[in-house]
Amino acid sequence: MERRTAITAAFLLDAFCCMFARCYSYVMKTTYESFLKVPRPCPFCSLKEGIIAENAHAYLTYALAPYHPDHLLIIPKRHILNLLDVSAAEEDDIYELVRTALRALHASGYVDVSVLVREGDNSMKTVEHMHYNVIPNTRLGDIDHLGQKRVLLTPAEAAVETEKIQKLI
Ligand SMILES: [Zn+2]
Repeated sequence: MERRTAITAAFLLDAFCCMFARCYSYVMKTTYESFLKVPRPCPFCSLKEGIIAENAHAYLTYALAPYHPDHLLIIPKRHILNLLDVSAAEEDDIYELVRTALRALHASGYVDVSVLVREGDNSMKTVEHMHYNVIPNTRLGDIDHLGQKRVLLTPAEAAVETEKIQKLI
């Protein structure tokens, strides 16, 4: 009977510690949503910590609110809002660090990696300073912009799309 009491006490203590750890973790962690509500200067222009690598025009760092623990970012040092504003020299340095990030992730054993740049207020971009996301093992979704399953273009639709874009180039 005494042994059973000891086991029960140990079980209850373990359960309590586990619950406490969960509550502590929840309370002490800041959600990205609440972090974004506080106005602050551009976090990428004032980047001083967490620099994994850098060259003349760009930094390689980790994502503050990652989609995956090894979610990396490549950030131009100049405050650029759009991909089209990147100079040729900046592009070379950004891509050098994208390759560095990919090599590091592949060396870690990741096979599936997404490289993503967002543009526009409705693209879920949360920091306006242009940046590349390099994200391992995260499926970005199989739905289209209307929230429906993606379907293949017909040959006629593909021809229309090709002609439309060629006229804009
Ligand atoms: Zn900036």
